[in-house]
This record gives sequence, C-alpha cells and structure tokens, in this order.
Amino acid sequence: MQIYKVGGAVRDRLLGKPVTDIDWVVVGATAEEMLANGFRPVGADFPVFLHPKSGEEYALARTERKSGRGYGGFTFHASPEVTLEEDLIRRDLTINAMAEDDQQNLTDPYHGQRDLEARLLRHVSPAFAEDPLRVLRVARFAARYAALGFTVAPETLGLMRELSESGELEALTAERSWKEISRALMEDQPQVFIEVLRDCGALKVLMPEVDALFGVPQPKAHHPEIDTGVHTLSVLEQSALHKQPLTVRWACLLHDLGKGLTPEEEWPRHIAHEHTGLKLIKTVNERFKAPKDCQELALLVGQYHTHGHRALELKPSTLLELLQSFDVYRRPQRFEEFISACEMDARGRKGLELRSYPQADYLRGAATAARSVAVQPLLEKGFKGPELGEAIKRERLKALKAYKEEAST
Ligand code: ATP
Ligand code: MG
Repeated sequence: MQIYKVGGAVRDRLLGKPVTDIDWVVVGATAEEMLANGFRPVGADFPVFLHPKSGEEYALARTERKSGRGYGGFTFHASPEVTLEEDLIRRDLTINAMAEDDQQNLTDPYHGQRDLEARLLRHVSPAFAEDPLRVLRVARFAARYAALGFTVAPETLGLMRELSESGELEALTAERSWKEISRALMEDQPQVFIEVLRDCGALKVLMPEVDALFGVPQPKAHHPEIDTGVHTLSVLEQSALHKQPLTVRWACLLHDLGKGLTPEEEWPRHIAHEHTGLKLIKTVNERFKAPKDCQELALLVGQYHTHGHRALELKPSTLLELLQSFDVYRRPQRFEEFISACEMDARGRKGLELRSYPQADYLRGAATAARSVAVQPLLEKGFKGPELGEAIKRERLKALKAYKEEAST
C-alpha cells in the first residue's frame, strides 16, 4: 500500500501556513489490511480509519457517485484498484486535490499548484455540484484566504449559483451547515463568507433574513454607509479584527434582522427593529441548531443593542432592567459579550471604525455597581422570600443612581 498526505495539509504547506491536522489517503489497500495493521474504523460503511497512535484520519482511496438528494445520497466505491488520481478528482477544489508522498513528491493532476499561484478557488470537476455543502466550503475558504488575495473562479461561482438555484442547498442538515458557518465566522474575514454566499445566490436560500438587509437604507447621520447589509458585513469584519468569540460574531451577524421587515414608507428609520427582529433571530437560530450560548446572545443583542448605545442616557431604572435581563450577577461573561457586540456594531460603520465607545466602560461600571450590593445586611434586617428580592432590587437601583450621578460629574 502507498500512503499520501492530502488536502489541507499539502495546500497549507505550499502556502507556507501552519499545518494543524493532517489527512491521509491510502492507495492499494483493503479494509481488512488496515484493521490487521491496528487502524480503527471510523464508521460502519465509511472507508476511513484512525491511526492507532497519532489518531489522524486515513481514508482508503475511493470514488463516489451521486445516487440521491442530500449527503446520504452518495455511494462510495473503495478498493485497492482505485488510483490516487481517481481519489483526487472527487475533491472540491483544485488546491485541496493535491497529494504528497513521504519524500514531498507532489501529485497534482488537476493543477492545484497553478491555482495556488493564481490565487483561485476552482472546482476540480463538474462532480463538484453533487454535494451542496461545497458551496459553504468554498465560501469558507474564500473567507480564510481573502487576505492572501484568493477569489472564487468565475466558473466555480457559476456552479455554486446553479446549486443554489436547484434547491439542493435545502437538503443540507443543520449540523453540516452549522459546522461550516461556525468555522467560517471564526476566520479572519468572515464578511467574505457572507459576500460569497450572496454573490452565488446561496444567502437567499440559507439566510433570507440576512440577504433581505441588502438594499435597506438607514439614516445617514448614524450610518454613513447607509445600506443595512453593508453595515452588517462591517460589523462582522470588526468582530474578527477584534478577535471576538463565536457567540459575539453570530450575534453581530443577526443583530439588525428586524430592519429587513421595516415597511418601505418608514425608511430610513427602523422604529422598534429590536423587537420585530427577535422572531427572525429565533428562526435562524433554530434553522441551524446553533449552540445555546450563540442563540441566547444573538437574541439578547438583537433586543438590547440600542440600549447599549444609549447607555449613558438610560435612567437608572432602565439600566437596572437591562442588567437584570442579562442576569449579570450570575452571568458576567455574557454581559461582557453583549458589550463587545454593541461596540462592534458601533464601529461597523463607514469612517467610524476607530471611534471611541465610552458606553462599554460605563456599562461595565454599572454592572459592578449593581453587583456590589451585599445581601447579608438585608438578611440581617429580616428580609426574606419575595421581599428580600424587592429589597435587593431597591438597593441596586440606589447604587445605580449613585453611579450615574458620579459618572456625570
Ligand atoms: P481545513 O484546513 O479546514 O481542515 P481541509 O482542506 O483539510 O481544510 P477537511 O474538511 O479537513 O478540509 O477535508 C480534507 C480534504 O477532504 C479536503 O482538502 C478536500 O480535498 C476533501 N473534502 C472534504 N470535504 C469535502 C467535500 N464536502 N467535498 C469534496 N471534497 C471534500
Ligand atoms: Mg483538514
């Protein structure tokens, strides 16, 4: 049997990027031989094995044929006769379809190296259209390598458009989609992921609520970029520049969905978009079965981001309600993430990227003030049950009044 490094490991070595996980392909072997050599099978009918020591993935060379809709709709054919070239042709992009032996001899039948130099994300063969997940993968690679100057080849974008229009994207499971979306959001230029999806018509299918933001104007005084879609991309861009976690990036993407519902005659104003957006945020959250912390933060940021911006003008009672809604006493981290998302929203505006955001420290100070209310003295005074809760609230409100007064002097 011959063993080759394939996919990302070869691509990233040629790009001079650090290689983290290595995928291997095995030519000329049977499943029985792999098992006899101590490899552990990954799935029942999938010709992929884990190395007994390194745990890295070793896949038998295989061909694939589409036999139905969705991911289940593939038949695999793995046998010792399948050649390296036959295995490589089923891969998504030419830059992912190179293999390398232990002497670093490159097998590159589909000119991945040429496309690496040309900075092109190009499909290997028309079979690209057999797996709709590839639309998301290409958009994700575009987000990752945008800084190196990579773009999607026009003919590949054309195939992605056909896939988007064919209805195949709807066959993707929430789990597969979320895996790509979450990885793409964590890339250096997540906004490119959304842009590429939009360019090929996939955004309209996957997240029509985000797609609908393009072409919706906002008041120029607060939003020099005017367009809500452009603003959303900038907020996402800021979230990556500021190394925000996935929760914040997800919230940034969804924070303004309500603006897509504003009746045109109200443009460019979006009264109460924080509330109208909530059901859309919920729908998108559930469509992709986003993790609970992402779902929660997106809803909270959607509902309260304008409160964040107006923090310094909020009445102490409104400040208290905000802090209570976030349960800052038990969930300080979530409130920090809310503050970050608000800051990204404020900076994701044309020409305002470097503005200061005093609201952030003001909100942190308010949380500290409310949190500093001690329960023990109230217990000693004999408060208990619901009365204790009311007393704590009263003390917190007092603390916030004092905080606000001190901040304004
Ligand atoms: P990453 O750096 O994100 O791991 P990768 O290219 O290694 O990038 P993997 O998901 O680890 O991506 O997959 C390894 C290889 O398997 C890819 O390079 C590609 O050749 C192939 N591959 C993975 N998923 C698909 C797919 N859906 N369609 C076609 N080829 C795929
Ligand atoms: Mg990989």
